Amino acid sequence: MTCREFIEFIDSYLDDGLTAGEKVAFRFHLTLCGQCRGYLDSYKKTIALGKAALKPTDDPVPSQVPADLVKAILASRREKPPE
Ligand SMILES: [Zn+2]
Repeated sequence: MTCREFIEFIDSYLDDGLTAGEKVAFRFHLTLCGQCRGYLDSYKKTIALGKAALKPTDDPVPSQVPADLVKAILASRREKPPE
């Protein structure tokens, strides 16, 4: 399996859509190729981030706003545009 084939297989692999033989080839390439390991890793993270961004949440807005953030907001509001 080449790196190009590997990358084309990632989607199917994550959806469990590979045949047993393809899975073996995929995992074998993964074992040998650090570049594709890194690629698969960031690919999974990207998917996770995408899902997290789409997921509706019931979490309340944090009541503890970091003090530094409050200061920064107040400071920016005090800055008046030049007249
Ligand atoms: Zn590779």
